[in-house]
Amino acid sequence: MKALCKSEPREGLWMTRAPLPEIGPDDVLIKINKTGICGTDVHIWNWDDWAQNTVPVPLITGHEFAGEIVELGRNVTELSIGQRCSGEGHLIGKTSRQSRSGKFHLDPATRGIGVNEQGAFAQYLRLPAFNVVSLPDEIPDDIGAILDPLGNAVHTALSFDLVGEDVLITGAGPIGIMAAAVARHVGARHVAITDVNPARLELAAQVADVTPVNVAEEDLHDVIAKLKMKQGFDVGMEMSGNQRALDQMVEAMTMGGRIAMLGIPPGKSPVDWSRIVFKAITIKGVYGREIFETWYKMIAMLENGLDVSKIITHRFGADDYEAGFTAMKSGLSGKVILDWTG
Ligand code: NAD
Ligand code: ZN
Repeated sequence: MKALCKSEPREGLWMTRAPLPEIGPDDVLIKINKTGICGTDVHIWNWDDWAQNTVPVPLITGHEFAGEIVELGRNVTELSIGQRCSGEGHLIGKTSRQSRSGKFHLDPATRGIGVNEQGAFAQYLRLPAFNVVSLPDEIPDDIGAILDPLGNAVHTALSFDLVGEDVLITGAGPIGIMAAAVARHVGARHVAITDVNPARLELAAQVADVTPVNVAEEDLHDVIAKLKMKQGFDVGMEMSGNQRALDQMVEAMTMGGRIAMLGIPPGKSPVDWSRIVFKAITIKGVYGREIFETWYKMIAMLENGLDVSKIITHRFGADDYEAGFTAMKSGLSGKVILDWTG
């Protein structure tokens, strides 16, 4: 089969021929239709420090996918051949305290497809049946291929009650923008989203009913005044990984505000802890998706009017993967989809 592989420990990814994955008794074989390129894949392409310390070579990359089941392991009885699906890319252990109490997303032994294990940028993917999430007919493969990052957005956005709340999102990348759409869908009052990249802010305004704020030019305190908010934002979602964005968020929060942090800062980043203490702010770190509550709620919302389709800005055949990565690196794209069916 064709597979987009980290074949050598240097910059780049290469389209290679790989053997068809062999499935175990509890696995399924998925024929991949569409995949999404993630920022993580760009890190692996660039072969930065994180990638060098994390990713084994050779490895088939990619973890955002939609496809259909073409083979079932002998113990798999709840799924069927031909079923359209996406799936959770975090492979969890079953022995930790967290897993045994049903908090699968907190399992410390988690391994990621396309990062630690063979991934989804290929014509076929082996996946434990446990990880499969079936797709209803109303959810097309393009959207199925971005449920992983949409799940990050949903997990973060549902961390705190948003009904009637004023919400600040820092970072209008694909995940920040989708989180804005989710916040609107579940009934937030004002949703402001910041970035320093005008193209990203324009895209945010196309995808969701938000107040875009270019923090290179505009002060968040002026936005608070313009939106006639009394003190500041009730809930924050940090989705840039940028140190200054977190600082600005803490400043713009109301007393007792709640912050969910998904963005990953590049290293240790200093924070004015006294501001956090005196404002009595709650901070929650968010990793991945809740398995499988996030998937359940995400699909239910998509079936009931949540529309994130405009976040997909580019589509390429898998053979044109280089163009896909160029689009991702431009900083101008939303989600970029690769089609493996051609
Ligand atoms: P992205 O890099 O596409 O988007 C980040 C955005 O932040 C960019 O548009 C950038 O211009 C903007 N930005 C930079 N400086 C800023 C500032 N000072 N203020 C406001 N915005 C600023 O990333 P993405 O794919 O949307 O992912 C968002 C973040 O979530 C990243 O940090 C990513 O590493 C992280 N992430 C975490 C998890 C997890 O499980 N915790 C999963 C996926 C992604
Ligand atoms: Zn991803």
